[in-house]
Amino acid sequence: MRIAIPKETHPGENRVPIIPADVKKLVKIGADVVIEHDMGAGSGYTNDDYTEAGATVSMDRDALFSGADLLLRLRKPDIAEIAQMKEGAIHISYLDPFNEHALVNAFKEAKVTAISMEMIPRTTRSQKMDALSSQANLAGYVMVIQAASHLPRIFPMMMTPAGTLKPANVFVIGAGVAGLQAIATAKRLGAKVTAFDTRPVVAEQVQSLGAKFLEIDLGETGETAGGYAKELTPEQVEIQRQAQKDVIAKSDVVITTAQVFGRKPPVLVTKDMVEGMAPGSVIVDMAAETGGNVEGSVPNETITVNGVTIIGLGNLAGEVAKDASQMYSSNLFNLVDDSWDEESKAFVIDFEHDILPGCIITHAGEVTNETIKNILEGGA
Ligand code: NAD
Repeated sequence: MRIAIPKETHPGENRVPIIPADVKKLVKIGADVVIEHDMGAGSGYTNDDYTEAGATVSMDRDALFSGADLLLRLRKPDIAEIAQMKEGAIHISYLDPFNEHALVNAFKEAKVTAISMEMIPRTTRSQKMDALSSQANLAGYVMVIQAASHLPRIFPMMMTPAGTLKPANVFVIGAGVAGLQAIATAKRLGAKVTAFDTRPVVAEQVQSLGAKFLEIDLGETGETAGGYAKELTPEQVEIQRQAQKDVIAKSDVVITTAQVFGRKPPVLVTKDMVEGMAPGSVIVDMAAETGGNVEGSVPNETITVNGVTIIGLGNLAGEVAKDASQMYSSNLFNLVDDSWDEESKAFVIDFEHDILPGCIITHAGEVTNETIKNILEGGA
C-alpha cells in the first residue's frame, strides 16, 4: 500500500503529520511511504531524515495525491485535492465534519474514504490514537506560558528582602484535557489556581492537582455517553456567569477551555466581566477561533480591552510544533497500525472494528457516519 504524506500548506502551520521515526515504523510493517519534498521542514526534519527512515521524497504534489492509497496529513484538504485522489483511496486528517459539509460531500462524490481525527471515539483503547487529547494537552501548557509572558507579574509567591510578592491568581474555566494541563502547568509555576467545569466528576481531578474547584449549583448537568459535557440551558449559563463573576474580577489570569462537542462554545466571560478585571490582567481564550468563550476575543490576535490583555491564539499546539508533531505522528501511526493487515500489507476498512466506524465519515460513495449524515440531511 502506498502511503503519501503531503506538506501542510496552512499559513504558519509548523506541525508535520509524520516524523521520521514513525516513517521507519510504517516501512517496517510493509508500507511504501512517499513524502512531499520539505514536508518536515516546519518541525526541523530534513528530506534526508525521511529517506534514511525509508521514505521516497517527491517534488510532484499532484502525483502524491493521485498515486496514494492512503493519504496522511494534519489539516483538512482543499476540495480540489480530493478530486485528485483515486476512487477507493483513504484520507486521514482533521476534518471538522460538523461544519465542513462541502468537504464531506466532495469525499462522498470522489468515493474516497475519509477518516476524521476529531471523531476517534474517546475510549481507553483509542487513547494512543487520540489527537484531540495529545494536542489539547500541549495547548493547555502553551496557554499558561502565553499568559505568563504577557502578565506584568510573576506566578509564584516570592519572599525577598525587597518585600513579599503574592502568587498570581489563575482561574481555569473548563477542566477537560487542556484545562487540566493548564491547571497543572500554572501550579508548577507557583500560581494559586481555581477551576470550574460543568461535569461534576472533574472536581476530584482538579483538587488532586492542588487547585480549588469552584462549586456552582447548576442543577442537572451530567455528561454524554462519550464523556463530553452536555450543552447548558441559557438559564444555567446565566447562573454560571454570575457565580464566576467575583472569581474573575479577582484573577490575574483567566484561561477558558470550555467546549461542547459538535456545538458552538458557550460565551462564559462577558464584556462587563472583562471590564471588571484589573488592568494588566490576562485572558487566554482557547475557543477564540470557533466562536469564543470570551466576549470580544479575536481569533489569532492579542488585543487589549481596558488594560486587560485578551489572547485569541488559535493554533496553540503549533507553538510547540516539534512536540506536537511527535505526538500527532504517533497518533496517526497507531491508528494505521491498528487496522493494518500484515499479509496484504494494507489498511483494512472494517465496519465491525471497535474504533473505525466512529471516525469514518465517508466510504464507497456514502456518508457512513450517522451523526454527520443527520446534520447534512438537516436532521440535527
Ligand atoms: P472538550 O474539549 O470537549 O471540553 C473541554 C471542557 O469544557 C470539558 O471538560 C467540558 O466538560 C467543559 N465545559 C463544557 N461546557 C462548560 C461550561 N459551560 N463551563 C465550564 N466547563 C465547560 O473536552 P475534552 O478535553 O476533549 O474531554 C472530553 C471528555 O473526554 C472528558 O470527559 C475527558 O476526560 C474524556 N476523555 C477521555 C479519554 C479516553 O478515555 N481515551 C481521552 C481524552 C478525553
